[in-house]
Amino acid sequence: MSYESTRNSNLKVTASEAVLNGIAHDGGLFVMRNLKDKKIDIEKLLYKSYAEISRKVLKLMLDDFPEEKINDCISKAYTKKFSTEEITPVVKVGGCYITELFHGPTSAFKDVALSILPHLITASYEMNDRQDEVIILTATSGDTGKAALEGFKDIKGTKIIVFYPENGVSQVQKAQMVTQEGSNTHVCAIKGNFDDAQSGVKKLFTDKNLIENLMEYNKVFSSANSINIGRLIPQIVYYFYTYVKLIEKDIIKLKDKINFSVPTGNFGNILAGYYAKQMGLPINKLICASNENNVLFDFINTGIYDRNRQFYKTISPSMDIIVSSNLERLLYFLYDKDNNEVKKLMDDLSLKGRYEVNEKVKNKISSEFYGGCVFAKDTETTIKEVFEKYGYLLDTHTAVAYKTLEDYKDETGDNTISVVLSTASPFKFSRSVYKALFDTEEQQELEIMYELSKKTGIEIPTNLQGLENKPVIHNKVCEIDKMEEYVRTIVKQ
Ligand SMILES: *Cc1c(COP(=O)(O)O)cnc(C)c1O
Repeated sequence: MSYESTRNSNLKVTASEAVLNGIAHDGGLFVMRNLKDKKIDIEKLLYKSYAEISRKVLKLMLDDFPEEKINDCISKAYTKKFSTEEITPVVKVGGCYITELFHGPTSAFKDVALSILPHLITASYEMNDRQDEVIILTATSGDTGKAALEGFKDIKGTKIIVFYPENGVSQVQKAQMVTQEGSNTHVCAIKGNFDDAQSGVKKLFTDKNLIENLMEYNKVFSSANSINIGRLIPQIVYYFYTYVKLIEKDIIKLKDKINFSVPTGNFGNILAGYYAKQMGLPINKLICASNENNVLFDFINTGIYDRNRQFYKTISPSMDIIVSSNLERLLYFLYDKDNNEVKKLMDDLSLKGRYEVNEKVKNKISSEFYGGCVFAKDTETTIKEVFEKYGYLLDTHTAVAYKTLEDYKDETGDNTISVVLSTASPFKFSRSVYKALFDTEEQQELEIMYELSKKTGIEIPTNLQGLENKPVIHNKVCEIDKMEEYVRTIVKQ
């Protein structure tokens, strides 16, 4: 059993059990204790495909999965599901490189992990001889919901229910969700904001009466949230893939270090980079980019994590997060796997809303990470400048990371080859991107998407084209206190 809870070393599970459980029952997250022993020989990855690199990474991290199962999951997730065979192509833009993570079925980086998670869950069920039907419950502020729906669509033995705030997602995101096909997909708008949806779902997860009822129907709840190792592990792959591509293009040599700049919210994406580094990838700095919700920027620079602060609704909504769950996994490794220390910090967080790390850990953080933050005005200027100079269109999240990298270079003079991870197609956030380029505020996002494409000469991803003509399949809206009733009707089906 190679995984344990960040908060208790006695809570040990296998990889497949960790995928099934999602979160440990003491509230901790599952981590692989001997991560540092899982080294990858990069030379052996040269000229290999994305799927082949995936196999190497997943085999090390999902160590109780039979090899055929891993290969099967990878092939189901990535064969013909992405609009490019490269899966995550690396392109040069100005003085840096960009790894495009948005070529999946919903044009957001979450596709990379959510395309494979359903298969990892089904495989884990088979391996642990479980017969129940899995009901995936998800609250979304936009991107996760659609990517999870697309991932779980028509997967045998699963149903997926997504709740989104009626007025809290972009028009493109809403259109993507309400037109979702698949016999096992359910989407419901709620009269409330994202926090209401999220706390409503959390309540359902712990509702004893409901869970007992579920068991009578041979059903269990599970989560598609990024606390699941089944979402984290597939993200390690593109860090290795990017590095190998840079060697193949003669931009770096084996063992050269590189920087990654990552638009960060829940700390899942950038944590996968930290994992890659532990597994032997030569990374110099991991650059953590935040927007106005800059709790991580403060943390990296002061060692104090403080959630008692104002929440801002920004033009990069997928990064609007105050409590970055996956940071707990980083703390576990920085405290040399001392579960008690992690538990103390997490208790502080829930009781006082803040915690402070010790001097030694603070120094470790500054040697591994750089924290920056970029607000709306500079994000918009960056989108405009990069388009005018290089003809490359950044989305609002990627632009935050791009500008943070520039700030980092100005501040440190570091000339290391650097990569920005691009997390969404600009067309998913057409309204904000259009405003950045042309300084006009348009209301109809679906129409603006076509206008944006016409004016920039850049093609709209196929999955977003014609959204306005697709039939609306899910028009259910419910009050927050009716979420349980809605779930019960679906469970009985
Ligand atoms: C989810 C998301 C992020 C944040 O990623 P984390 O893993 O939560 O840090 C950034 N950009 C986009 C477009 C996203 O959908």
